[in-house]
Amino acid sequence: MSETLFTKIIRKEIPAKIVFENETVLAFRDIEPKAPTHTLIIPKKPIVNVSHATAEDKAVLGELLLAAATIAKQEGVAEGFRLVINNGASVGQSVFHLHVHLLAGRPFSWPPG
Ligand code: 5GP
Repeated sequence: MSETLFTKIIRKEIPAKIVFENETVLAFRDIEPKAPTHTLIIPKKPIVNVSHATAEDKAVLGELLLAAATIAKQEGVAEGFRLVINNGASVGQSVFHLHVHLLAGRPFSWPPG
């Protein structure tokens, strides 16, 4: 896949407010937050989106959710948060490097818009 700005954030070439990092995952605050807590959790491996993930990525995909739980605890929102993955341009994906949005701190309606 071609490089996105998230690769530059991983390499620390673009500044970001990093809230969590381990060997496989990086999480940072969204630049245009849609909720009081809005963090993006990304694999360091450049995967376009869930549709492009393979069986090889099983552990990485698990790490993203475990990181979400850790960050939610860290941010004091473990009792209620929403995880969103926009998979494809037609549903709002604008950066083609897999990312999980962790949103919390305001009411959320269902179904999502
Ligand atoms: P998507 O629309 O692909 O699901 O989500 C991409 C997200 O990346 C958006 O919520 C957008 O605000 C965020 N974003 C875009 N550029 C930057 C940036 O340079 N820094 C940070 N921290 N977030 C960004």
